[in-house]
Order: sequence, then C-alpha cells, then structure tokens
Amino acid sequence: MTLTDVIEVLEAAYPPARAESWDAVGLVSGDPAQQVRKVLLAVDPVAAVAEEALDWGADLIVTHHPLYLRGTTSVAATTPKGRLVHTLIKNDIALYTAHTNADVANPGVSDALARAVGLVGDLVPLQPFPDDPWRGLGRVGELAGKTTLGEFARRAAEGLPRTSWGIRVAGDLARPVLRVAVSGGAGDSLLGTAAAAGVDVFLTADLRHHPASEFVESGGPALIDAAHWATEWPWLDSAASILRESGVTVETRVSATVTDAWTRGY
Ligand SMILES: [Zn+2]
Repeated sequence: MTLTDVIEVLEAAYPPARAESWDAVGLVSGDPAQQVRKVLLAVDPVAAVAEEALDWGADLIVTHHPLYLRGTTSVAATTPKGRLVHTLIKNDIALYTAHTNADVANPGVSDALARAVGLVGDLVPLQPFPDDPWRGLGRVGELAGKTTLGEFARRAAEGLPRTSWGIRVAGDLARPVLRVAVSGGAGDSLLGTAAAAGVDVFLTADLRHHPASEFVESGGPALIDAAHWATEWPWLDSAASILRESGVTVETRVSATVTDAWTRGY
C-alpha cells in the first residue's frame, strides 16, 4: 500500500472540505508514493508519540491535532515541532492529520466519545450542518436507562482512558439523567446549543469557570468536564477500524501514551 492509498481511505471517511477554515488538516510530512505497512494513531503529534512510532516501526502517524495550526517559516530542529519534523523525515515516517473534519464526520470523534461514556441507540449531531442533518459537531443520544448524574459521571470516568485529574462534574449528583450531549475536545462554544437541546447533561472538555458557572446557575443541563485528550482518544480506535475494514492492508495501532497537557493532579 502506498501513502496515497491510505490517504484516499481517510479522506473518504473524513473529507478535508468539511474542516473549519482555520484548521490545518491533511498530509503534514511524507511522500505520497512511499509504502505504508504500519499506521500509528494518536491524538497529539508530540515527541512521545514520535518515539512510539519509531520503536514500533510505523510508516505513518495519523493524529487528530495538527502539528502546525498557524503555519511556520522554519522547521529547524531548534523547536520541539521542528525537531519532530526532523525525526519523522529522517525515519521515513509520514504524518497525517484529521481534525475538525473528523469532529463532524459520521462516525466521527463525538460518536466514539458517546459510545465510550455509555450512550446507546441512535446518535444525532448536537449542531448539524444545515445541508446535512447526519453530520456536524457533538452528538446527542440516550443512556440505556435513567440514572443519576453521579452514577453517569462514575461510568463516564470508567469508560474514558485514565488521566491525571479524571473528570469534573457541575450539578446536583442526584439529578436524573437520560438524555446526554457530548462533544470531543473544547466544547465551550456549544454550551448554548446544548442548553437548547433539552439534554440532562453535557459532557465535553476545557470548560472554563465563568461560562460553566453561568450555565449551571441558569438552570441548564448538568456539565461534565473531562480531559481534552481523553474525550478525543476513543475516536482513534474508530479511525483504525475504518482503515482495517477498507481493504488497505495496513497494521494499525492506537497509541496509549497519555498526551494530555495535565500530567498530575493533587
Ligand atoms: Zn482536540
């Protein structure tokens, strides 16, 4: 298989045209003609992931987050990102990013998150595209049965990979919960949409004090704030399955390296 073959599968699942205009998705480094046998999937293009790719002998790393979101004028090995580019090119490891185009895909990042925290049955986008009701940001669905916020939070923490500070809950722990909205990554911008969606709880990441406090005070759904990395990690397995089931003969591996920025909670 060539890198071109693998990219074709990824772009059918995660069309780059659906990425946000500010985003930087697609091939970051690598020769489209190079052979690809082993694909490592990870959330972040950081040194620890490059090390893992080297140790395992990966030909391609597929990450959720872009390496250079805002562009650069240098890839000198004088910065962590420049050094990463050197490591990748010297070792013939390609790097490919599917970011906001993977967020809005179906199945996408939030579908995997929804399943990881226990949602069953149909999922619909929290903020669908005007031209496509089955694709868009976030997902809304239901749990298998009514439970309490406290119990759902405990299950969500168990369903997500472990991070240093786990998850945080805002709301009455005894509150009944059935209908849930989730959004992988920073979900601040979807707070209003979640409030209007008639859900009992909204689970996302990177929530800040003031928006969260005002949201809960105004009687909106309860909030669960998880580690950014943990909310996007479940998608890696979904992307790996798409590659394996596509017929491109590659070996896949999901990186278990925790690359969340927060490494210790006290
Ligand atoms: Zn993210």
